[in-house]
Amino acid sequence: MMFPFFLSHRSRTERDANAIRLRAGWLAIVAAVVTIALKFTAYALTGSAGLLSDAVESLANLVTASAVLISIWYASRPVDRSHNYGHGKVEFFASGVEGLFIVGAAVAIGWIGVIRLFDPHELESLGLGTVIAIAASAVNLLVARMLIRVGRAYRSPALTADGRHVMTDVWTTGGVLIGLGIIAFTGWLWVDALIALVLAVNIAFTGWRLIAVGVNGLMDRALPLADERLVREAVETALRDAPDRETTFHALRTREAGSRRFVDFHLLVPGRVSVGDAHALASDLEQVVDRALPGVETTIHIEPLEDDASYRDSDLLVLEDGPERAHRVETGSGFR
Ligand SMILES: [Zn+2]
Ligand SMILES: [Zn+2]
Repeated sequence: MMFPFFLSHRSRTERDANAIRLRAGWLAIVAAVVTIALKFTAYALTGSAGLLSDAVESLANLVTASAVLISIWYASRPVDRSHNYGHGKVEFFASGVEGLFIVGAAVAIGWIGVIRLFDPHELESLGLGTVIAIAASAVNLLVARMLIRVGRAYRSPALTADGRHVMTDVWTTGGVLIGLGIIAFTGWLWVDALIALVLAVNIAFTGWRLIAVGVNGLMDRALPLADERLVREAVETALRDAPDRETTFHALRTREAGSRRFVDFHLLVPGRVSVGDAHALASDLEQVVDRALPGVETTIHIEPLEDDASYRDSDLLVLEDGPERAHRVETGSGFR
């Protein structure tokens, strides 16, 4: 899918990127309001527990879309006296809070399902209800894809999380409609309650994944291994051309905070190298890292390679020699 016209301007400046993130955030709120109206209408027409579950879920969308918008705005504020590393981490809070809300919605939907399982209701106006639910789902599909794209392109975990969340709603509505179709043909009213229960489990998993994203971010989880490797290889390649062959580095660390990414490491140079020369090399390496991972903020600590103390100044050094680093594996979800 193409970006809508007002999101298509790809600019290099952070201010423009942020304007695009904010617009995407507003669009998510508008979409949430529209789908809430449509889905509760569909429920009122049919009396379906499945459609009611779907409508409750879109209420959670509105709450979380609002949290996302506030966090994007806050994350965009420049560094200040009290937040020297910027405000990006607020996006991980948003992801975690969003996850909690979604788990809450899952519990509510599960409760509706249990009640209806023991007390099935006759369904009405299934045709019109279905048409309205499909319209709501189409709105969600367009918005979800836009959010995921903008979130990835402009590295906003909050937007990406919101997009994934809205995308699960598309599947949710699809499942509800299939169930209503089965009921229309068979008259098995318990299918409606069963759908609500299945939705509850699926939605709870979505919430769990978002909580995991929030926790990983707040815990300063390292960048993906592939990104770390890019940085290491770029620095190693650059050091082959360094003025002194024995120049090396260690204790490389990475982390991210919202859309900002950070790298730091120790640069080991011969003790006789002047401060000016060592700093010039460090500045070159910062450029090298920026080319490998654009936008990364790099900090380099310079130390004399002859001094034993240089090799005892980071707990990471043990891991770099051991099997730990090589065995760090990437998993798609969960707490890593
Ligand atoms: Zn400097
Ligand atoms: Zn060191």
